[in-house]
Amino acid sequence: MQSDVATIVVFCQDPRFINEHVRFVEGDIGLESDEHLTISVLGGAGVLAEPDLFESEATSVINQMSFWLKEHNIVRYRLHAISHEDCLRTRRSADDAKAYLQEVPANVRLYLPRGRECGYEVEYEGEFHLWYGVMKTPGNPQNGLRFEPVALVEKRDPITVSGT
Ligand SMILES: [Zn+2]
Repeated sequence: MQSDVATIVVFCQDPRFINEHVRFVEGDIGLESDEHLTISVLGGAGVLAEPDLFESEATSVINQMSFWLKEHNIVRYRLHAISHEDCLRTRRSADDAKAYLQEVPANVRLYLPRGRECGYEVEYEGEFHLWYGVMKTPGNPQNGLRFEPVALVEKRDPITVSGT
């Protein structure tokens, strides 16, 4: 890896949408496949939004991120956190899923272990991009997804999620 910033992508492993996720990441975001680490997990970035509920998945994602950063001795990372409509793992409505994405930066910062470099600890520095895949045809996942950015709200009230 040449860059001093590690680019990491987290998306859902749902086979219905896996090709579209890859096309989005490599085509629209424009990441070469050998320039970023993709972590696909059922639930996508939603597992990082609710680590208490999806503990094993969130732990796995964090462990892979941590390994990658340590292995390359990189402290800066750019995370593309992607979740999508009709996710069978998280089962969140679109509004709730997008609201939950706001939790990802704080959770990753909280759970990512501190890096160790030259005998002292360093703080990882993260840059976050949130994305949400919406069904192109409402109610019909077979027609695929289009992806829209979700603005990161730095200061906000705690979210409340209805239902589920
Ligand atoms: Zn999913």
